[in-house]
Amino acid sequence: MSAGSWFSGGFKAAKEATENSNKSFEFGNNEMSRFRVKVGTTSQVIFLDDFGWQITFDGNANSFIPFGRWEHKAELNGDWKNTVYATCTQGVSPCKFCDAGFKRYYVGSMSVLDLTQYTNKQGKLVTLPRKRIMPAAPKAMAIIEGKKNKKGNLLGWQYSVTRHDNKDPRVGSDFEAENHVEDVREFLKKFGAEGAAINLDPYGFTAEKAFEYYRTFFAPMPVDQQEKLFKSFNLVDGSVLKKMGTAPAGQAPAHAGEGGDQVIPY
Ligand SMILES: [Zn+2]
Repeated sequence: MSAGSWFSGGFKAAKEATENSNKSFEFGNNEMSRFRVKVGTTSQVIFLDDFGWQITFDGNANSFIPFGRWEHKAELNGDWKNTVYATCTQGVSPCKFCDAGFKRYYVGSMSVLDLTQYTNKQGKLVTLPRKRIMPAAPKAMAIIEGKKNKKGNLLGWQYSVTRHDNKDPRVGSDFEAENHVEDVREFLKKFGAEGAAINLDPYGFTAEKAFEYYRTFFAPMPVDQQEKLFKSFNLVDGSVLKKMGTAPAGQAPAHAGEGGDQVIPY
């Protein structure tokens, strides 16, 4: 069996295991779908959720943005570029990740339009807007809550987001309001046909539809798929800091030498 065919098979299995209603990277619950800020840099985002969305159950109206849940992060065969994010189901149904000793962490997710600039092959600084999930750790959630309380609603607000060091949440800690975008679809037209075609879900949704969107997006992996994943791969807990020398490039561990039980500050 060649490495190539093994990889193909593995990739397919991983895809099956993380399958949800959306297929492309922008909408699958994977590494590429997630917004994060490189240490020492500033990114631009526009918030796409209506923070006033509420759904009613048990007779009470409840907010659901940020969409909070416990999560596991598993690297397939220890490869951080090939990561599976799985909603923890502890207390609801069996969770193989918990059983295997994986740490879980709490995140509140939102949707943002990522306007981070990058240098293209021609060496030109360009912006290709991308809809991404912003998975905020409690520390980041507290910062964002402060901004929300000030504005009333972050829908359409464009922020500069800076991450100063690797102890900062991955989504950044320094949020500076830039301007308010009245109509994000209109705004996207300036990026040409490709920009105009970007899927902005759940932008513009009703509360019920948006709630369903997140419930589907983060739907827990069925137990049989969890089992299949553990059988097919050597899964490494990606939520814990790695010892010096094994961290991915540009992500030096914040507490080198403390070993593997320090949960990354998401
Ligand atoms: Zn779990």
